[in-house]
Amino acid sequence: MRIISVEAEAFMVPLPRYFHGSNYKYTHKKGMFVRAKTDQGIDGFAYLGDDFGLGQSIASAVNEDFTKVLIGRDPSDVKNIWYDMRPLVRDILGDRRVALHAQALADILCWDLHAKAQGCSVVDLLGQQRDHAPIMVIAGYYTPQNSLGDLANETRDLITLGGRGMKLKVGGLSVTEDVERVKTVRDAGGDTFNLAVDANQAWSLDEALHFVNACEGLGLAWVEEPVHWDNDIADLAALRKMTDIPICAGQSEVTVAGVASLINAEAIDICNLHPGYAGGVTPWLESAELARQNGLKVANTGEPQLSASLMLACGHGMSIEIYHPDRDPIFPKHCPAFDARTDGYIEDTCRTGWGIVPSDV
Ligand SMILES: [Mg+2]
Repeated sequence: MRIISVEAEAFMVPLPRYFHGSNYKYTHKKGMFVRAKTDQGIDGFAYLGDDFGLGQSIASAVNEDFTKVLIGRDPSDVKNIWYDMRPLVRDILGDRRVALHAQALADILCWDLHAKAQGCSVVDLLGQQRDHAPIMVIAGYYTPQNSLGDLANETRDLITLGGRGMKLKVGGLSVTEDVERVKTVRDAGGDTFNLAVDANQAWSLDEALHFVNACEGLGLAWVEEPVHWDNDIADLAALRKMTDIPICAGQSEVTVAGVASLINAEAIDICNLHPGYAGGVTPWLESAELARQNGLKVANTGEPQLSASLMLACGHGMSIEIYHPDRDPIFPKHCPAFDARTDGYIEDTCRTGWGIVPSDV
């Protein structure tokens, strides 16, 4: 089977309100769709989020450069295709984020086609280890009022949405105020509610230590990217020695070697390399295997259309992280997995490929 056509396009959907984390703000859901055809009539379809507003450049890079590697190739050769695309990320004066996202988009497309050619899902291809995984809703964004009552209501709404867990945004207010936000979600969600926090690199080491000490006893599943990126490996390792709350990081790394540095420094308990930032699912799988060999867990942040499969293929995977449809209208629209929410879990519904279905709805 050979790939005969590839076409990527950027998309941008305005959100009903802005979503404010500690150091950033989303007003639109942005990303890139990619479609492909093979000489055996198999259609590939995948998409990837675009956190940096580079979608047009990424789609152009796929259409003008990466396609030259893909056309004529058998997608079951996905790992060699990944290495053959690697020279396209080597321009030291180019925008590395564009090149890595373009490689990632091409790579996830190949995994989709590879599975569909076998008549199976990516989960089947990788080896299914779970038939369902818990839902973690990325939520609790900051608002102009930052009302604790509103945050409690949001927590209860997420449980109605089918989530039994929240990854709460922290780092945007004082540590003391953020600890109150954690307590509010814990009280609203109850003792069994799965609660993690993501500071998105907002804190100094001292601030992070203040936070984790104040949150001891609140049952946090993990604290994600707690410290500034300036010296993050050393600071994560130092923080990890001083708290029992699991430390999650890796999403800001762009290579498996970067993940290895975090692991070798004993800086993390959970690795969440981002398959878009790091050039695809192929390196994500390598990082997951590295984590497994070192007794660590893995997560996949912000790309539920991928984690709905990857978390089922990893016995050491954490939750399937999704968003409220107001924050991410694309996943509910194109992924049947969103409707497979049952009692706080997402079931395996994927039949072929990634299970992403183009929808005009
Ligand atoms: Mg994160």
